[in-house]
This record gives sequence, structure tokens and C-alpha cells, in this order.
Amino acid sequence: TEAYIKAIGTARPLNAFISETPEKAVEMAKASDARRRKGETGALEGVPLGIKDLFCTEGVLTTAASHILDGFHPPYESTVTRNLWDAGAVMLGKLNLDEFAMGSSNENSYYGPAVNPWAPEGDNRRYVPGGSSGGSAAAVSSHIVVAATGTDTGGSIRQPAAFTGIVGVKPTYGRCSRFGIVAFASSLDQAGPMARTVRDAAIMLKSMAGFDPKDSTSVDAAVPDFEAALDQDVRGLKIGIPAEYRVDGMPEEIGQLWARGEEMLRDAGAEIVPISLPHTKYALPTYYIVAPAEASSNLARYDGMRYGLRVPGEDLLDTYERTRAEGFGNEVQRRVMIGTYVLSAGYYDAYYRKAQQVRTLILRDFEQAFGKVDAILTPTTPTPSFAEGEKTGDPISMYLNDVFTVPASMAGLPGASVPVGLSKDGMPLGLQILSPAFDEMTLFRVAGALE
Ligand code: GLN
Repeated sequence: TEAYIKAIGTARPLNAFISETPEKAVEMAKASDARRRKGETGALEGVPLGIKDLFCTEGVLTTAASHILDGFHPPYESTVTRNLWDAGAVMLGKLNLDEFAMGSSNENSYYGPAVNPWAPEGDNRRYVPGGSSGGSAAAVSSHIVVAATGTDTGGSIRQPAAFTGIVGVKPTYGRCSRFGIVAFASSLDQAGPMARTVRDAAIMLKSMAGFDPKDSTSVDAAVPDFEAALDQDVRGLKIGIPAEYRVDGMPEEIGQLWARGEEMLRDAGAEIVPISLPHTKYALPTYYIVAPAEASSNLARYDGMRYGLRVPGEDLLDTYERTRAEGFGNEVQRRVMIGTYVLSAGYYDAYYRKAQQVRTLILRDFEQAFGKVDAILTPTTPTPSFAEGEKTGDPISMYLNDVFTVPASMAGLPGASVPVGLSKDGMPLGLQILSPAFDEMTLFRVAGALE
């Protein structure tokens, strides 16, 4: 823990942390030592972790990287972090993210962008670590934490993992409790581990997961020993390659990476099977209806009365308006406007209901595919990390980052990103593995074969 606290001090230019909590870390490490001496050793005993600042941590500033949560010290602990502490883990601090987890580059943080520790040789620009779990990705990639929590609504664990050369796992929707995680889009949000190896991610997920009566969407299913999946190879597994993920304009190096992944799995004894997921192209547009709709509803609670920032106005309504105008950044305001629009009378049927119907078609595509294959292999992202500022002026090109990650989010399926190679500029690239719901064992098994 002391070594990590020192390392954090040398890595401040990455802006990975919103709050460092060294005193708390030392206190937790001491308590862990005491347990160890008594022979009580948890699965994560003494392991120093970073926590995405979207998880409520009791008495510790929790910002969601938003100005509107200024000074918010939650009176309770999220279930996922509670589970980690119960397993013996130590908290180093709270990690940077896009405001309310809305973004793909961590450039939407009120606390400034987190920086990718990777950059092409000879290029002095700062590269984005991806988002929204950009601080988590930067911290894990730069070895200033052992591992970190992330959350993934449309790709926020997998895409930053790919951009920074680490492993990120979004479990099945319902696998981890959402209690105490600041809500973005409740039917999509899911917590997961971000780590340097598949094994670390498996060990960490086991501690994070489990049924929680405080989250009505958490599923009462046994949590398997994910690490044991790594004892099995992929011989005899059928791996699907979906034709629809070969999108127009995808750089050649991404296609090559994908072919290399296929080859690795074939060499390890898996069978490669071409498949079709015909509704893939509708996933991104429907995600950007469903996610903002739910966000606009979830964010209605930030009214300047209950939490954080209050900008007093002439009357109540004026106070609401000023607080929200000052407290929310541009992207968050854009989402609230899109969300309230697609939910409003007259447009609900045309947009929101349609999107929900398409969501069912996307899920059916996957169900059919998993009748034929055990897992699916795709690139995680259509491009490697990009320089800061390159896409901030163009929300659509920013949204395109999520084209390969949102389909599984819409279907609630587990997905992992594993680093498999480098771009021609020497930037990390990841491949994505998808598996059937609650079959993370297969997900880890295939991920292990790509490592
Ligand atoms: N980049 C996507 C978005 O901005 C996904 C974010 C997430 O998964 N939290 O909505």
C-alpha cells in the first residue's frame, strides 16, 4: 500500500484520481495486517484498489465527476465496494471518469481529462484513456493501483480497457448490485473489474458479484469461481465471428487484429464459425435513445435541494434552473434534452417504444447465435485511442466509439476486452469476447486463451 501511495504521487499528470485517500488506505492496510496475523485472509486481503468515482463510498467525497455533486459525502457504501472491503481490499482513492459516466474519452469530467499513459512514439500530444472509466483505465495501465472498479453502460469498461492495454470485464446485467452506484441508465449500468490480467479480473469479479436485496434487478444466481475457468483451455469451443461487425471504414489494422485473435483461438483448439447478428447496425442509434431517456429521468433528482451544489435563484424554479445549468456539463445537458424529447408525449411511440422493440430484436439475434456458438469474438473498438480534443467538437464521431460495445449492453450480456496487439503507431488494441448471459465462465476461458 505504501509503494502504491508513492507511485500515485509520481503519476499526478495522468489526472487519474479525483480524490486520493492515503490515510484511509493506510488504516485499511493496517486492519488487513491485523486480520492476516489472526489467520483471517480474504480473497483480496491487502490488495490496493482504485474505485471509479461513481461508486458511493461512505463518508468519502463522491462526485460522479460532476460539479452538481460538489461536496457530496454519501452516508452509505455501495454494495460492490462493501463486498470488496469485506474481501480485504484497500481503497487508494476515487478515480476520474466522464461526468455521470457519459462519454468515451474522459474529456467530459468536471475535474479535467484523465490521460492515457500510452502515446505514439515521438508524439507529444496527450492521448485519451477512453471513457467513461478513463481514470480507472489510466490508473491500472500505469501500475498506480493493482486493479480498479469500472462501470459499463454502453462500453465504459471495455473501451477504456482496450485504449490502455488492460483487461476489462462487464459481467451480465444483474450479476453485480447497482446499489450505491450513481445511476446513469438503470437498465444498462453494470459494474465490473479492470485489471492487468484476466486472472486478476476473475478474482476481483468473484468478490464484487452476488445477489443483493437492495437492487431489485440483481439476480439471485450462484457466483462461480471465475478463476477456475482459467484451468480450462478452449479446445472444442465454437467461436462466432459476426459478419456485421466488419463495418465500413474500419482501419485495416483492426481487421488484422481480429484475424490474429481468430488464429490464436484456432491454434488453441477452438472452432471458428461465421455468424450473423442482423440487427447490429441499429444498436448504436437505439442505445442513444434508451440511455439518454433513462438518464434524463435519473438526473431529475439533482435539483439543488438534496445533494451537492445549490445556486440560489429568485424562486424555487429559478433555483432549479440555475443549479442545473451550472452544475451539469454540456454532454450531460445534451443527454437530458435528448432523453426528455424521446420520452415526451407524441414522440414516445416514435422513438422510445421503437427503441425498446429494436432492443428485443438485438437480444434475439444473440440468442439465436448462442444456439450455434459458445462465444463471440469482435474488435472492442473501431479505432485505437485518439489525441485529446480530436473528437470533442463532434458528438457523433465520439458516439461511434461504442459501435462494437453497445449491442451486448442492450442485450444485457457479459463482455470482456483483452489486449491483443498494438496499432501501427504502437497504441494498444483490444479484442472483445461476448458470451451468453450468466456464462462468464466461458467468457474468462476464451479471454485466457487470448492473453
Ligand atoms: N460512451 C458511452 C456513452 O457515452 C458509454 C458510456 C458508459 O458505458 N458509461 O454513453
